[in-house]
Amino acid sequence: MATTTPEPKQTLKSRLSSVFRPKSRSNSKLTKVPPPSSSTLTKLPSTSTTKTTSTRTSSISPVSPKPRPLQYGAIYRPTEDNTNIQTGERRDDTDLLHGLTHRESSSTMASIKKEEEEDLRPPGEPLIASLPSDLWLAIASYLSPADAARLAFSSKMLARRLGTGPWDALNKPENLREEVKFLGDMDRKLPSHLLCFLCGVYHVRTQAGKEKLKATSVLNPLYICPSIGKSGVKPYRTRLTPGHTLPFTFVQLVLRRVKWGSEYGIEVNELGRRYQDPYSEWKHQTRYHIHKGHLLLRVVSSSFASPDLPPSGQRHLLYAREDYTPYFSACAHWRDGELMDVCKCALKHIPKHRESVSQQMKRGPQVRVGLINPNPIVTLCSFCRPMRRCPECPTEYLVELKLAEDKNDPLVKFKQVISVTRWSDLGDGSSPFGREWAAVNAENEDPYDSFENMGRRAISGIFESQSGVTIPGQRLLSLNPKNKKMGEEGHGWY
Ligand SMILES: [Zn+2]
Ligand SMILES: [Zn+2]
Ligand SMILES: [Zn+2]
Repeated sequence: MATTTPEPKQTLKSRLSSVFRPKSRSNSKLTKVPPPSSSTLTKLPSTSTTKTTSTRTSSISPVSPKPRPLQYGAIYRPTEDNTNIQTGERRDDTDLLHGLTHRESSSTMASIKKEEEEDLRPPGEPLIASLPSDLWLAIASYLSPADAARLAFSSKMLARRLGTGPWDALNKPENLREEVKFLGDMDRKLPSHLLCFLCGVYHVRTQAGKEKLKATSVLNPLYICPSIGKSGVKPYRTRLTPGHTLPFTFVQLVLRRVKWGSEYGIEVNELGRRYQDPYSEWKHQTRYHIHKGHLLLRVVSSSFASPDLPPSGQRHLLYAREDYTPYFSACAHWRDGELMDVCKCALKHIPKHRESVSQQMKRGPQVRVGLINPNPIVTLCSFCRPMRRCPECPTEYLVELKLAEDKNDPLVKFKQVISVTRWSDLGDGSSPFGREWAAVNAENEDPYDSFENMGRRAISGIFESQSGVTIPGQRLLSLNPKNKKMGEEGHGWY
């Protein structure tokens, strides 16, 4: 009995020691053990911890003499001491850590807030009141109607001094643009309203949060507006493809949501659509993206195209019957430049359909080798391959030929597809009189020079980079290199 009792005690001890013994070999493989550098960081006064760290370092150091690569974000620290080799200065890590915690302190924010709260300046009302009304009216006369109204709106005293003049000026029909400029300041206070640029009034959103972009033929009012239906009043919208437009109200909704919050509008992805034209083979895909507060649009339009199309066939393919506008998406300046010529040139590069020797022999004894196995990849020429930028508005185009399967054709399964991609910057959504929106729709009063405004950064590049796609280096040429505006008369666009 006496000989058996010490035995389990010994085994328990040995088992415990085996459990707590540092595993010298496995250390080099396990990754969860803190690196040796971190053990030197802990400088706690208790002797027990220093002991364990010292044993740990001693056990690790002979096993892993090779320095391990630092983990991402880790700061390199020498294992022996913190003395800088070059300056001899000893770095105090505790001090360093405390320095880091104080860096992001809220003391500055608090002081700013305090300054805002405790505005120690004397009230300006008596100062404003000390100047006569005539002088204030003279000051306001130098301002635009919108700015004069903003001045009158800023305080009760100024409203009294300026009288009703600024408001009367804003009410004039010719000052509608100034009126919407002034009203635009209140956008943030009215999440369930939408500023109407036809009336200069905030209308209540009748489908708040459930607004859906629909085809132009579908009646889809987002608010009840008395101006719609009046003769000569046209709601602000941009043409996308035949039968599809983008009303400005949707640009407002999408950008308001980004600026102020979810209750102010709808998500940008809700605008994207994929549809087929009911009267042709054209398919369209629209996508939107917000970049630096601007709404960017991309429309990819594609259609099967036959080889060797005569001019009439090319027209039939490219132009909608109803209004002789292109089936694909284009800005308002498409007639002035080379866009249609570029498309027609691309169509000329489509190779003839594949024909086997027996098929060719049916027609005659000549056999053309090129037709037996035509190259499916078509290279376009230096005229139709480069990307084009409209010089008058922020819009870019790319014409491509791609091979696609036609499931409806039992004879020729794989055909070339002409694809026209359009990218546009639709502006910041503050007003349809904004530079970009007005330029795209050719409603701008001041000329817009897209090459000067956009520089080298292409809208297409910005748009595609958000989905991680990089467009291969393309030359960016002007859509209208001679800048001739001949409209329907010239350029032979049809
Ligand atoms: Zn209205
Ligand atoms: Zn070409
Ligand atoms: Zn344009």
